[in-house]
Amino acid sequence: MLLTLYKSALRPIEIKALLKLKIKGHAYAPPKESLEKLATSLNDKAFCYAALGKVSRSFSAVIQQLPDGLKDTIGIFYLVLRALDTIEDDMNFPLEKKLPLLVDFYKISNNQNFSLSGVGDNKDYEVLLENYPKVYRTFTLLSKDDQEIITDISRRMGEGMAEFAQKEILTMDDFNRYCHYVAGLVGIGLTRLFISNNPDALDLKVKDEISNSMGLFLQKTNIIRDYHEDLYSDRTFWPKEIWGQHVNNLEYLAQNNKDPESLACLNHIIADALRHVPDCLTYMSSVKDEKIFGFIAVPQVMAIATLAKLYNNPKVLTGVVKVRKGLAAKLMMYSINLKDVTKYFEKSIRQIEKKNKSGIPSYQETKKVLDNIKSYF
Ligand code: MG
Repeated sequence: MLLTLYKSALRPIEIKALLKLKIKGHAYAPPKESLEKLATSLNDKAFCYAALGKVSRSFSAVIQQLPDGLKDTIGIFYLVLRALDTIEDDMNFPLEKKLPLLVDFYKISNNQNFSLSGVGDNKDYEVLLENYPKVYRTFTLLSKDDQEIITDISRRMGEGMAEFAQKEILTMDDFNRYCHYVAGLVGIGLTRLFISNNPDALDLKVKDEISNSMGLFLQKTNIIRDYHEDLYSDRTFWPKEIWGQHVNNLEYLAQNNKDPESLACLNHIIADALRHVPDCLTYMSSVKDEKIFGFIAVPQVMAIATLAKLYNNPKVLTGVVKVRKGLAAKLMMYSINLKDVTKYFEKSIRQIEKKNKSGIPSYQETKKVLDNIKSYF
């Protein structure tokens, strides 16, 4: 906490937000007991909220901003997809069992007796799957329309995950499609759920393509930030079509993080992620519901601030680079509007521009993307 406060020392609003979050955070924080123990005492809905808090502290905090009816829907949507992702991510789960489960998850899980034990690389995820009937029963209380949307998205996501469980991400098309399955579909599903709960939530009928970009922007940012962590796990997500233009293997970046080739590669993949920014700005400007706006805009602002920090930064290739917790706290504690968001984006774009001096690797490529983004402000 002290170090976090120090990093925000010149930003009094962030300090206030950090303290506010620390106090208010107790209200959002999941109960102290293990999820396993809670499963025996809590009713279905209370278990779902406890699980949300355990599997994602930050998501559980932003979800509190949503209107009451929508909160349950989005919470269940998140848990269903978390269950699917748990199956995808468990690298000890044999492929011959994993693939049919991913493909048929939307059908099999639509049953009050469905549960799995021993799957998941984290205890809370494992407990979630063991107690899936509680999630299912809460799911059945949602409107029929919402149930259909969630089922449709989990069907498409499961199919995509199964496809990529067997192959590497080589081309840009692979990269975009994989990100579509695991994140773009979340954007598409969220948009449909927002509209089903409030037809006026969004100004214009947002096209799937724009909703998809919202997810791709967040997913690509995470993939870039997690380069080093993923390098030592069983899967990597950087497409060969990008790194192959700069280096002979992905490990080279970590071993030679200050080489111009390594930085060119990093900047290249960041420029690709930045290409989604115009769609994200278009999407956010179409959201009319204030609470929904906060819910979707906070992660977007965190993502652009992250990319500004990662650009041309060799530390990304050898460890973890994150934005100040104070910024996250401020975004979560104070409501933001489109004007604030535009300001945050402009500021981050300016930071990238400042680092993108002529002569640095990928200068031209990034400049083109930045100039295009600036025409949207
Ligand atoms: Mg996954």
